Amino acid sequence: MALLLVHGGATNLTSSPLNDSKQGATEASCNGTDMTGKSATDIVEAAVMAQELEPSLNAGLGSVVQMDGRIRMDAGICNSDGKYGAVMQIEHVKTPVRVARRVMDIGYHSVLSGDGAHTFAKEQGFESQSPFTADAFDAYLKTRAQFPALDYNALTVNVDDINVRKLGTVGAVAIDDEGRLAAACSTGGTKFCFPGRVGDSPVFGAGLYCTPEIAVCLTGEGDKILRRLTAKRVEERFLQHGNLKKAVDEAVEDVLKIENGYCGIIAIARDGTAASGHSTSFMAFAQRSS
Ligand code: ASP
Repeated sequence: MALLLVHGGATNLTSSPLNDSKQGATEASCNGTDMTGKSATDIVEAAVMAQELEPSLNAGLGSVVQMDGRIRMDAGICNSDGKYGAVMQIEHVKTPVRVARRVMDIGYHSVLSGDGAHTFAKEQGFESQSPFTADAFDAYLKTRAQFPALDYNALTVNVDDINVRKLGTVGAVAIDDEGRLAAACSTGGTKFCFPGRVGDSPVFGAGLYCTPEIAVCLTGEGDKILRRLTAKRVEERFLQHGNLKKAVDEAVEDVLKIENGYCGIIAIARDGTAASGHSTSFMAFAQRSS
């Protein structure tokens, strides 16, 4: 039996139309992912790619625009064979997770960033495509109107509210028919991002993690999650007591308690147990087995 868990970002907004569209897009991506005879790696890549093409989710097409008017995206993928690949701050592609997968498959480097990541993508035959949507650009113009000077200090002082930061990163964890595990994550970052900012999402051990025992994927306040290495923390707790749901809840609690930060987590263990948890009031989530 194969199992897929997908998230479409966590938020503290309650019953907003935005939550409904994220939930709908997440369910559509999960249901549309072909799992028959596929490896866990192929399954999470396909699910995350489908989400990247959903403009209501903050990844790939529809990503938030950084404060200098450019979209720079992060994505990572890893599996129970000990493989990991990521791109950070990549521009001009609609599906960064596919580029991360290529980095992983080639395996010479683990992470490519910025212009180097884009050059790699072009060289590997990925088409240059704009991830801008009218909505994302409109939101950018409004944020710039609030902070016309693009001043880092002004940003850090004034913007610390999860509700205005348009979370909506996407991610997936899966186990396949042969018991292999994988995790993948993709994001445009958060609103009010200073150019070049990288959050937890593409970082091994922070936004995603995978071993032969467990696959984990995060969403939430990336600057805070990074400092807690939360995906790795879920694995450590799980290995200590063997209760996946408890491990997820403890890691969620850790971010809240130590960093006053919000997050959501999805995880699958080797025996096919699945768990999710979030400190936000909402996390777009879907699950499917085959
Ligand atoms: N974790 C992402 C980031 O900080 C945001 C999100 O999950 O929506 O870049």
